[in-house]
Amino acid sequence: MTEDELGELREEIGRVTIEMAKLFVKRAEISSDIGRAKKEIGMGITDESREEQLRGIVLDACRRELGGKGGGDSSSSAAGPAPQEAAVYRFLNFLLGESAVIQSQYRRGGGPGHQPVCAAECCQPATESGGGEGGPTHLSVFQAAKRLEAEEGRQIIHMEVGEPDYMPPGAVATALSESYGRGHIRYESPRGMPALLDALAEYGSKRFGASIGPGNVAVTPGGRFAVFAAMSALLGPGDEAIIMEPAWPAYRDCAAYAGARVRAVQASLDESWMPSIRDISDAVSPSTKMIILNYPNNPTGAVLRPDIMDGIMEIASDRGIYVLGDEIYSEYVRGAKPWRSVASYGYQNAIAVQSFSKSHAMTGLRIGYAVADGHVIDKIASLLSLCMTSVPAPVQHAALSAVGQDVSGNARTISERLDVLASEARKMGMEYAEPDGAMYLFVRVGTDGARLAERLLSECGVAVAPGSGFGENYRDYIRLSAACEDANRLIEGMNILKSMLDGGHT
Ligand code: PMP
Repeated sequence: MTEDELGELREEIGRVTIEMAKLFVKRAEISSDIGRAKKEIGMGITDESREEQLRGIVLDACRRELGGKGGGDSSSSAAGPAPQEAAVYRFLNFLLGESAVIQSQYRRGGGPGHQPVCAAECCQPATESGGGEGGPTHLSVFQAAKRLEAEEGRQIIHMEVGEPDYMPPGAVATALSESYGRGHIRYESPRGMPALLDALAEYGSKRFGASIGPGNVAVTPGGRFAVFAAMSALLGPGDEAIIMEPAWPAYRDCAAYAGARVRAVQASLDESWMPSIRDISDAVSPSTKMIILNYPNNPTGAVLRPDIMDGIMEIASDRGIYVLGDEIYSEYVRGAKPWRSVASYGYQNAIAVQSFSKSHAMTGLRIGYAVADGHVIDKIASLLSLCMTSVPAPVQHAALSAVGQDVSGNARTISERLDVLASEARKMGMEYAEPDGAMYLFVRVGTDGARLAERLLSECGVAVAPGSGFGENYRDYIRLSAACEDANRLIEGMNILKSMLDGGHT
């Protein structure tokens, strides 16, 4: 190619880019109008069925107009999508993400001129504390409850968050109090201190039935950071992540922060919250980079049926899709269904996230870890190094003292409390599926859960988590936590809930 020819190509790309920029601005204006309209008619920002429809329309049009250009046959084949189709998907997902950012401005009182603090905006605390699309979540109810306690001296019955009211193992107190004297006050390596990595690898190999070496572990400030780090490191603009709803809201927030789109597979109470393999495989697209599993599940308490779990791992490994298993409730399995870690499949793109928060009642110490292949651990470690150098040394020593401690008593406590909640809910005629694990009962209340949660807190001092925080389709659910109160207080809370529902207050 001559320099003149290169010059011509540069001119052409310049012209195309200007056209795209003009269209991009025009599209942003239309998106802004749509955002205003959605707000006016009370619609959520994200409409996945419309997104799916648009993908179909755009892909069809591109196939027709572009024909075989740039990638041979433009249609997908068994070998995977044509490069052109994958590029269109990525671009379209980027545009859909932009629309969400533009439209979310109407939910935050900023109007269209308001500048988001970060690209995805929804990563701000406002999302989790204010609700992904404007409604309350378990965290916003928790914060409101804490405010009422601090500012008005009110006694609140906490049934909204998964914060254990029991103490960590005694060894943790000793390790923490001895840390200073022993000089555990210096930087550690970003992935975690070697003794802890060794201990976690040994524990994990036995507990998860996997072959885990210290190079497969990264210590993080809580399970939340492990989820964030894995998603930020592995997902980029235009990629897609599949989640099973109802779901912990942070998966959506982390995906948005990474510029990725979420495809939600809906699980239903009628199917005991088991997602269907057919739905999952239908949700896979050329842009799918990650499938996120969270079992035992928050909020439903479900554990995945083994055949469904195997099916998901097969779909993922056929296409090299990452599987993120958020397994922080794995010490709280209570049903007959066997729980299995994603780490046990020996799949190089599986990431298991664990935490000391729930298992060892160490929420405030902020420590968890990720187990994965070395290539993933390296990426997570880069982010850890960039963001925080290392998890505080005293906390790592506390975790080291906790590894392998018998915490089965915690699981028994929660299981007994879940029985109490379930029995009260049954008496009240509420619908729910018996939880196989975790710390929650997800009940259908037959009325708007967010409104109910607001009134329960402000009028009766009972804090519960609205179902809408876990997905658009769960507005008539609430999540009841067995973590923070003893059986008597839980019964008291359920009686108040009953009288509010009976009184037709909502
Ligand atoms: N994953 C799930 C499903 C959760 O429910 C939570 C906390 N509620 C976390 C991760 C984060 O826990 P932590 O950061 O305290 O380990």
